[in-house]
This record gives sequence, structure tokens and C-alpha cells, in this order.
Amino acid sequence: MLNVKNLTFSYNKSPILKNISFNVKMGENLAIIGESGSGKSTLLNLIYGEFDLNEGKIFWKNTEILGPKYNLVIGYEFMKYVHQEFDLMPYITVAENIGKHLSRFFPEEKEQRTQELIKVVELEDFANVKVKTLSGGQKQRVALARALAKQPEIILLDEPFSHIDNFKKQSLRRSVYKYLKNKNISCIVATHDKDDVLGFADTMMVLNNNEILDTGKPETLYKHPKTPLIASFFGEFNVIDNEIIYANQLKVVEQSNLKAKVITSYFKGSYYLIEAELNGEIVFFEHGTALEKDSAIYLSISE
Ligand code: ADP
Ligand code: MG
Repeated sequence: MLNVKNLTFSYNKSPILKNISFNVKMGENLAIIGESGSGKSTLLNLIYGEFDLNEGKIFWKNTEILGPKYNLVIGYEFMKYVHQEFDLMPYITVAENIGKHLSRFFPEEKEQRTQELIKVVELEDFANVKVKTLSGGQKQRVALARALAKQPEIILLDEPFSHIDNFKKQSLRRSVYKYLKNKNISCIVATHDKDDVLGFADTMMVLNNNEILDTGKPETLYKHPKTPLIASFFGEFNVIDNEIIYANQLKVVEQSNLKAKVITSYFKGSYYLIEAELNGEIVFFEHGTALEKDSAIYLSISE
């Protein structure tokens, strides 16, 4: 189990993270979310032992994670980290990069393991291609596979699918997270993409103003967002009578006391997002069809 206790850290004077405490169980998937600059990458760096803490302690099982002041070499065998900027060897192939840290003394096992991981990241067609010729998204997938090669007990992923296009993203996410669950590998993923979280994370933790704003099951945070910031992570929402109401909770009805005027209909695939004016404020709701500009409609809030 990972145990982070009362962690405080600053690069210079002002603290980036203050009094952060949480645990991650074996095989648990924890998503760390927060706006750009909220300290997600910093927290992963600290868990990896890249910097010395100002205060607090980090343990993996019984091993204390220590920073460069105490450790000549950064990193531990049981932990792997896929950085936002992945550094690969450009002049060797995808397969060679992935197998780089696997023992040469067991060539068959090495080959088998490399092939298994190439499948997980769906790079079968590129196994023998030199990494320098790959796209950003493909490189990101190689970095993921390489981190998994020598099976870690815990993996830190910093926006792991950010460079990967939408065509591949969904199936790749399922493949990687399924693999981690099957192997009982703990995972901490820093992201600002809700699709990295929903359906995969056991727990999510929201960083804001240097602190943990809330933590819990994604379902709980979705249903009871403490603040608009948390709601905005999940999608369009409105604040009506001081309540956070998601766009999909507002429905058009025959008659109600919420009379609105349609401004714009945005095509969103399976629905339209309608922008309307309600009591002088802008509201958003989802609707099956486009609605005529300036038409009057009545809205109702569903649970
Ligand atoms: P996130 O990953 O959530 O976008 P970061 O952890 O990268 O956030 O950054 C948190 C804050 O720390 C930002 O204000 C950033 O400018 C600052 N920061 C990040 N890395 C360094 C560094 N090496 N030295 C000084 N400040 C840094
Ligand atoms: Mg970051």
C-alpha cells in the first residue's frame, strides 16, 4: 500500500502542495484531477522520489520513498513512472525500447513479454519500426509498455493518453486499465480528462489551491460535487438556486415556472447542447433535437 502522510512541498517559497494525505491500496486505481498548474505532476514527482519533501512522509509498504538528498539514484524497482514527456531511445525499434530493461539471459521470455506488452498498447504493426519515426501518441504508447515491462507493483501515469488521438484512445484506455487490474498493479493517474477517470478509477482526488478539495468514488463526486470546479470536470452544468444542476438534468416540459428563451443549439452527436436564457442568466441543457432560436420553452429539473 502507498501511504502519503502530511506532505508539504514547495519548489521555491510558496507551497505547491500543503498537508496532503492519502492511501492507495494494492491494485487500486487512483485518479488525481485538478486544473493545469494545480500540482498533479509535482505530486507524482514526489511520490517517485524526485524531490525532497519539506514535510511529511511517503511509504510504499515498508519502504520509505526518499528524495535525492538521501538517494544517489532516483527511482525504485517496484515503481514505474510515465512522465508527461516520455524519453525513449529514438534510434532503436519499438520492441527494442520495450524490452530494453528485460534480461538478455532469457531471450524467449523477453520476446514473449515484449510481444504481450505490444498487444496491450496496440502497437503490433509498429514493433519493428524505429521510435524516431513515430507520432507523439505512438511514442506515448511505447513509454507505457516500457514502464510495464518489468512488472511494477505501482505505476504513476501523468496524462497517459493526452497525445493519443480519439480513434485509438477509448480502446487503448480499456486495454491498459484492464491489464493493470488483472495484474493487481496499483495505479495513480494524473489527468484533467474525465474519460480517464469514469469507468476506471476506484477513487478520485481533486487538487485545488494546494490542497485536497475532495476525495471519493467518482460516482459520489459526480452526484454530489462539493464545488462548481468539481462539477465542471464532469461536464456542462448550471447553478440554479445555489444548486449545481448538470446540463442533462434539465428537461424541456410543457409548462413549469422555469421559462427560458433559446439562444443556440450545438450538435453534440447523440444530443444537442442548448444554450438558453433563464431569468437573465445563461443555462445549458441537453435535448434530442435542435431548438429554434428565440423560442420560449419551459424547463424542469430531474434528479
Ligand atoms: P499540473 O501537473 O497539475 O499542471 P504542476 O505540478 O506541473 O501542475 O505545477 C504546479 C505548480 O508548480 C505550477 O505553478 C508550476 O509552475 C510549478 N512548477 C512545476 N515544476 C516546477 C519546477 N521545476 N520549478 C519551479 N516551479 C515548478
Ligand atoms: Mg502536469
